[in-house]
Amino acid sequence: MSLRFFNTYSREIEEFEPRDPAERKTGIYTCGPTVYSRAHIGNFRAYIFEDLLQRHLELRGYKVHRVMNITDVDDKTIRGAREANIPLSEFTAPFKQAFFEDIETLRIKRADEVPAATDQRYIDRMIEMIGTLMSRDLAYQADDKSVYFRINKFPAYGKLAHFDLTQLQSTGRVKHDEYDKEHIGDFALWKAWDEEDGDVAWESPWGRGRPGWHIECSAMSTALLGDQIDIHCGGVDNIFPHHEAEIAQSEGVTGKKFVRYWLHCAHLLVDGQKMSKSLGNFYTLPNLLEKGYTGREIRYALMRVHYRAPLNFTWEGMEEARQALARVDEWLARLRETANGKIDNRKNTTAPGQQFEEALDDDLNISAALGFLFESIRETNRAMDQNEMDAATANTWLDWWGRVNSVLVIEEAPAELPAEIAKLGQARLQARLAKDFQKSDELRNELSARGWEVRDTKDGQKITRRAGA
Ligand SMILES: [Zn+2]
Repeated sequence: MSLRFFNTYSREIEEFEPRDPAERKTGIYTCGPTVYSRAHIGNFRAYIFEDLLQRHLELRGYKVHRVMNITDVDDKTIRGAREANIPLSEFTAPFKQAFFEDIETLRIKRADEVPAATDQRYIDRMIEMIGTLMSRDLAYQADDKSVYFRINKFPAYGKLAHFDLTQLQSTGRVKHDEYDKEHIGDFALWKAWDEEDGDVAWESPWGRGRPGWHIECSAMSTALLGDQIDIHCGGVDNIFPHHEAEIAQSEGVTGKKFVRYWLHCAHLLVDGQKMSKSLGNFYTLPNLLEKGYTGREIRYALMRVHYRAPLNFTWEGMEEARQALARVDEWLARLRETANGKIDNRKNTTAPGQQFEEALDDDLNISAALGFLFESIRETNRAMDQNEMDAATANTWLDWWGRVNSVLVIEEAPAELPAEIAKLGQARLQARLAKDFQKSDELRNELSARGWEVRDTKDGQKITRRAGA
């Protein structure tokens, strides 16, 4: 069965076929963070969806080459640097670093390339593209010296968002500082320098200034992935105007269809409301880690709802994620013991099928995929309860889990034990080695009281979070 994705451009589920089906090479471009503050969990929901997409494509044999840009020059970064009274690059550096730390905590695969907009090679490309648009009458320099894209000359403008441009004119939301433009919807390709920009400026044929946000993505994506891209992702709030503008600019320059499949991730709500600093429901990753949740628990909580459905983040949801992972941990521990052949069981013919992969083939239907995972856990646990699973079958299930976990990446890493739990575990191990079984039992009870279960296996002591703890 083939892969199918919902394409925002056509508003239809389409069969996936990359530009190079024989080689199965797949180029993916994802709009990355604007590094003016720490990213919030709503941003990470989108990055986790993109990670799931990449990992599933790889499981299905596609050779993914992914590019994620870093927006390190725009209105917000410039304002931040000005307020902090430091150079732009000094202001953005710690936020870039924090972003890479956060994606590592969430087990998100780093993109193959992470170009930064301020890299001179991309600035040069942006200027070159704007020059081409000017020569084709698709852009103009207004009285304010900025260069704008002329949307009336690009008939497909609005198609991605299914947006009627005449409505844009009739809303009457004309800002006073935009009177220089021919059409209210025309967007800046090059912003003429003004005092607020300080020393953030580059020379161009249209005078000193800086690029608009949209042209940054057109330049970096086509520079690294070519004129045509297989999949372009982002959040739904990127559709208009950002992605619409990317299409107009890129196709205006190359004359070729820019993107084959547009995939967009829905919003994240917190307690049913839009996340905002004023409501006090605005969370970054460190905010959740401080509450004792691990990276994989947060990953699971942000991944478990279909990417096109809004995800409502709640603390109960975090607890559910923790319990779901504890069930997985417990099941894996049992399965490994059975696979090690310690228990001589009757043969069981249950073998994993393809349902997990097939669910994800269907526009990344994660709910169905997880449903199948937990149904499999219930059934195999039942077989193990009744001594009906032999080592060979258990090994088949472990191989299957390897495939599942290559996409979900939710298996517990030993290093993820909280420090005090690891310390108690070490103390218990020492007590056992010294044959001080009373102390060893005390420490086991202590760990149990904290919600952790200790098991002595062939491979040594194993500490896992108790289901329901
Ligand atoms: Zn972008």
